[in-house]
Amino acid sequence: MKLRYLLLLAWLPACTDPATTASTAAPAADARFDHFKNQLLLELWRLEPDFALSQGFHKYDSLLVIPDAGQREREAAFVAAKQHSLAGFGLDSLSAGNQTDYRILQNELTARRWRADTLREWQWNPAAYNVGATVGELLNGRHHPLARRLRNISDRLALAPAYYAAARANLDNPTPEHTQLGIEQNKGGFDVLGAGLRDSVQSSSLTRAEQARLMERAGAARAAIEGYVEFLRRGVLAAGRARRSFRIGQALFDRKFALEIQSGYSAGQVLALAQQHKRDLLLDMSQRARRLWPRYRAGQPLPADTLVLIRQVIDKLTLKHPLRTGFVAAIKAQIPVLSRFVDAHQLLTQDPGKPLVVRETPLYMRGSGAGASVSAPGPYDKSADTFYNVEPLPADWPAARAESYLREYNDYTLQILNIHEAIPGHYTQLVYANRSPSLVKSVFGNGAMVEGWAVFSEKVMLDAGYGNNSDELWLLWDKWNLRSTLNAIADQRIQTQGAREADIVALLTREGFQEEAEARGKWHRATLSQVQLSSYFTGYTEITALRDEIRRREGAKFSVKKFNEQFLSYGSAPVPYIARLMR
Ligand code: ZN
Ligand code: ZN
Repeated sequence: MKLRYLLLLAWLPACTDPATTASTAAPAADARFDHFKNQLLLELWRLEPDFALSQGFHKYDSLLVIPDAGQREREAAFVAAKQHSLAGFGLDSLSAGNQTDYRILQNELTARRWRADTLREWQWNPAAYNVGATVGELLNGRHHPLARRLRNISDRLALAPAYYAAARANLDNPTPEHTQLGIEQNKGGFDVLGAGLRDSVQSSSLTRAEQARLMERAGAARAAIEGYVEFLRRGVLAAGRARRSFRIGQALFDRKFALEIQSGYSAGQVLALAQQHKRDLLLDMSQRARRLWPRYRAGQPLPADTLVLIRQVIDKLTLKHPLRTGFVAAIKAQIPVLSRFVDAHQLLTQDPGKPLVVRETPLYMRGSGAGASVSAPGPYDKSADTFYNVEPLPADWPAARAESYLREYNDYTLQILNIHEAIPGHYTQLVYANRSPSLVKSVFGNGAMVEGWAVFSEKVMLDAGYGNNSDELWLLWDKWNLRSTLNAIADQRIQTQGAREADIVALLTREGFQEEAEARGKWHRATLSQVQLSSYFTGYTEITALRDEIRRREGAKFSVKKFNEQFLSYGSAPVPYIARLMR
């Protein structure tokens, strides 16, 4: 924690503007800062239209940015100018909310410079380039009428050949793993520009000439994508020009961890904490499994190996699961139960005016294998509904695959999943975040805080007696929590210590009780991303530590409800910033 703040302090301007330190001048400083923030975002949206689009800001939908050296210079100039402006504000003259925004922006600008100059993913990740993905979003979006969306797509596609020419020029010894990913994702992008687009164009109100021009541009864009995929396949992979290791190593990992997680802990501390937490969880699991053994394995001898003992009890518990056709209904039925429990146990105040809409995942979002997710309205579209997307099991899955999936989301784990995704997890946190009207916190929301809260909220519910304190639910919560703990361990062991696939699969299956398919999927994900897998455990641990600290200090006066509501009231800010405000 000390290191982080020392870094922040080092960025503070040497002298504070006397006009803004006087208390009467504070509102003026906040007004100036609000103006600065809005201006920064408007310039950023012009610079990065794809990012804007993902946040629901649609003014620049027609722009495709060519990722060349000129663009990198414009970005560097933007960051330098904003860092200079930021240094002109006295941190003490700002309101608590703006102080947090100041720190978030300062970190964001530093991170941008570091990513462009030091990490340089633009050189080694061919999957960073994909024209089709955003076109798919535009095509499926509902923010503009079809004709307008198609005109925007047409304008973008006109630049696709130049876009891929710049992408090729950027690449310099990429990793084989990211090259393979770039090939797969661009093939997906290629499909977006196929029959679906043509059907949309033909059913639209575009003039004949506009239709012809769009289809001509789509044809040229498809050729450019094909050329890029072919280049990656033959010119890079087959030619032996993808030799970089996907492991970023200790120094880059530590810095990326500091900039992205914005934790009070260092990466090294988190690894040590995760190892200890793994041991604690396994101890708790062995005690519960021993108690459950006579109920689920009556008459059978207790295995000498504790890990085998735990696994055999889990294998019995997961037999209780919804029917294949009843998966969506099972989730739907649980939401009101969770909501009532939160009210009855006064865990926090809920907002009945913003109900969560449970729906089957729309077709265009399906296929990722993610059973459930929350779609929240972007910061520019707060009044829209929040959806809890639940994907029905694909009809073409063989029985064995469906059974394995349903056992993973058994009756116990499904409740934990619903707490995590919905109430009082991600959905509840979003409702609170939207009340603290800060675009900066919404746009640059901290992943460790968001995921940490969702994991923390599971424990809040079980601690309050949800599930009647049963060993069954606690054992499967332990297993679930072990997964995020092992994510953090695997992330660092892979990225900084050279762990191989066999080591990681052994760790996850043996000590994490995961199926081999899940473990191999995790390995694959960990070769393509860095630090993100550490966010769940880090956020959870940090929020728990803050809660424990405040509970110790307040003693008998401590209120779970007050803590939860106050914690959520600052929006999706990094936990150490929230901790400062709560102390
Ligand atoms: Zn079954
Ligand atoms: Zn989550």
